[in-house]
Amino acid sequence: MDSLYSNPLSLVIGAVTGVVISFYVAFSAQEPALEAVAVALAAVVAFRFAIVVAHRFSNRDETRTLELLFEIGAFAYALTVGAMAAFAIFTNADLLAQMVLTVYAVGYATAIAPRNAGRPVIALGQMVMVLGPISIALLMSEASLAQALGIVALLHIPSVITITVKVYRALRSQIVSAQANADLADEMQTLARTDVVTGLANRAGLNHAVSEELASAEEDARLALIWIDLDRFKEVNDLLGHPVGDKVLKGVAERLVEVSPDGSTVARFGGDEFIVFCPVDDVKHAELIASEIHCEIMCPMRVDGELLEIRASLGVALIPDSAIDADQLMQRADLALYHAKVGGRSQTCFYDPSMSRDLVRRREIEAELRTAIQRDELSIFFQPIVDLETSRIKTFEALVRWFHPEKGELRPNEFIPVAEETGVIVTLGNWITVQAARIAATWPDDVTVAVNLSPLQIRAPGAALGIKNALREAGLPPHRLELEVTESLFIEDNHSTSAFIEELSELGVRFALDDFGTGYSSLGYINKFPFSKIKVDRSFVSGAEVGKKSEAIIQAVAKMGTTLGMDIVAEGLETAEQVTAVRNAGCNLGQGYHFSRAVPDYLAAMLIAQERDNTPRRASA
Ligand code: C2E
Ligand code: CA
Ligand code: CA
Repeated sequence: MDSLYSNPLSLVIGAVTGVVISFYVAFSAQEPALEAVAVALAAVVAFRFAIVVAHRFSNRDETRTLELLFEIGAFAYALTVGAMAAFAIFTNADLLAQMVLTVYAVGYATAIAPRNAGRPVIALGQMVMVLGPISIALLMSEASLAQALGIVALLHIPSVITITVKVYRALRSQIVSAQANADLADEMQTLARTDVVTGLANRAGLNHAVSEELASAEEDARLALIWIDLDRFKEVNDLLGHPVGDKVLKGVAERLVEVSPDGSTVARFGGDEFIVFCPVDDVKHAELIASEIHCEIMCPMRVDGELLEIRASLGVALIPDSAIDADQLMQRADLALYHAKVGGRSQTCFYDPSMSRDLVRRREIEAELRTAIQRDELSIFFQPIVDLETSRIKTFEALVRWFHPEKGELRPNEFIPVAEETGVIVTLGNWITVQAARIAATWPDDVTVAVNLSPLQIRAPGAALGIKNALREAGLPPHRLELEVTESLFIEDNHSTSAFIEELSELGVRFALDDFGTGYSSLGYINKFPFSKIKVDRSFVSGAEVGKKSEAIIQAVAKMGTTLGMDIVAEGLETAEQVTAVRNAGCNLGQGYHFSRAVPDYLAAMLIAQERDNTPRRASA
């Protein structure tokens, strides 16, 4: 259809020429009938111009009507042109007039054949209407030459039709293949936006859906992006194999599609992460959806006969509450998810501006931590662990401090996790051990030093060698070094952990179990590994839930310690009453502000010296 309207210039030239010729011939012949036909031709031309112009500005519905009118106009024009030539021949008008009108008419009919080939019926109809009357007029003539010309004119019709049909076929195959190409492109695009495993949208599909949704959303629309990360999915893959892992992903995908509200986009964002992007009424509504999603995922799932419990962490951000555009929305939902994971997993976190501030601070710490050691901004403080009977200092726990030129004193809780995440902990940990051992080497032989080790540090290759080097460098006998590890080290049954502990304890290094009671308390590993000390977490001593229960726990642990020949340390002792209580419960060692805070090395040395001077008096007291 478009081909009819394209290139209107040819229409204009043809029409104007036709009108000019017919007017010239009709008025020079002074034949009223011809004059009338010429005027009719001009009227048809005006009518057709009006339609072409209207087509330009028409909408979809009007187009159909206009196309019909175009056809009528085309036939009317052809018929008028043919009739005029036939009339000139029939009335035996001036020979030149006959020739001019006939040549124009035949030329027109021939040119129209390929031009309107997009609609062969129109082309054919026009041709018949032009050549038909002319042939009839010629055949009715008495001159045999004219009759012969009439036959030629008739034969002209089928020969031109073959051109029309050829052009039509070429046009049609072009259109069909263009359509096929477009379909193929659509299909490819759909494939490129789909996740193979689950059939959900993939990253590209999600990005597309989010930008489409945001572009078409109303001004006051509220949209939630819920980022879902399956907890410990790697274990499912490792233990049960990838085919089972894929089935779990499919199962989760089905559940998400089912539970998500209408109009949601559900996507798999690589690995074990999913995203639900949906319109919501308000924050409460988003909370409801998130909790439904969470419940749905946690329902036990049967895969290949095994009943699996899948857990997930969720991070949620809203437009316009938490973000102004798609990028920010993703970034903030991701940040909220990070908090959900760090906060212990299997929970949902909504984005909060403080998360961004935390992140900025973390990033700064991350960037500056590597250079902090070289710039001498880190130092080791020492907190005494004392014998509750004699009050003598038995050990100093080395606690790292960062004196930041702008941020002031930073506590390890703020930068140790960053060091663990970035892997700097290995370098940092070795440095701390060397420093602590060097200082401990200057103390009396019966005072030991305790150094905290991160699980990551222990699992790093060459961990034991690092400790041995530190001891050698500092000239400290192994039995004067104690390594504090937490229960989290034993969540994963790791060969390198056992090897590390065995190798160093054979050398004489001692191990203490730190923060006892806060972790995954399985007593199995107390038996398995040669701990010489258990440090009962301070939440049992000075925490909010201190009471009968914690007293009973301390008693039980102390009893176990006596039986197994281990020291039991009560952490976080702040008052004399707490000291009495833990001593009565059976702890033999104590640590806390009641005795001393962590102090710089020279003060630690002073504490020892003071104690040695006063020992006889204290002991008697
Ligand atoms: P932690 O091993 O449990 O260390 C004891 C923490 O309790 C220290 O905090 C200490 O200052 C604090 N503390 C001691 N007595 C009391 C008390 O009476 N009341 C209260 N409220 N707190 C008390 P700090 O120095 O901030 O260290 C926090 C944690 O950072 C440590 O907990 C340890 O897990 C980690 N950390 C410290 N230094 C190092 C290190 O050199 N390497 C590694 N990997 N971790 C370290
Ligand atoms: Ca410790
Ligand atoms: Ca502790």
